[in-house]
Amino acid sequence: MRVSLEISVAVTPLPILLFPDPLLRRTAAPVDNVDGQVVELVDHMFQTMYDAPGIGLAATQVDVHRRIVVIDVSDEGDAPLTLINPELVLAEGQGEMQEGCLSIPGVYETVKRSTEVRVRAVNRDGEPFEMDADGLLAVCIQHEIDHLDGKLFVDYLSSLKRSRIRRKMEKLAREEDDDAALT
Ligand SMILES: [Zn+2]
Repeated sequence: MRVSLEISVAVTPLPILLFPDPLLRRTAAPVDNVDGQVVELVDHMFQTMYDAPGIGLAATQVDVHRRIVVIDVSDEGDAPLTLINPELVLAEGQGEMQEGCLSIPGVYETVKRSTEVRVRAVNRDGEPFEMDADGLLAVCIQHEIDHLDGKLFVDYLSSLKRSRIRRKMEKLAREEDDDAALT
């Protein structure tokens, strides 16, 4: 019994906060020590991200305000990348790419960001490392680090566009509440 219970807990995806939830605006605190709890959270975040499905998830989005990001931009979903306490040490070039976010489902907008980045972080084993990224991975890294600072990709859009998206999301949330009330 105990075993099956633990398994069912492990495979349940974490609830993802939705824009405009003010909890998405909190600044995440650095991780002091990659202990068992952090590793468990990382694994749970990967499950949640793959289940969604998405290519990146920040701890902020699952209401854990610690500097932890999981990413997998591969087609097969077999290239997991864990970034704990990530920091951009270099950002170059400028390009535009269409972005979406698990916290703003159904919304895709073009955002201008650096095209090449170097990130310094700690991995799932607690080891510090640096890596270079370009293309989709570079965009994803910047998008996820923004989450840790309480920033969302809609912040790069005009305020008119952002309030339109906010109204759309609030309407969606109301409709879901109504649906829940009916059942
Ligand atoms: Zn996002």
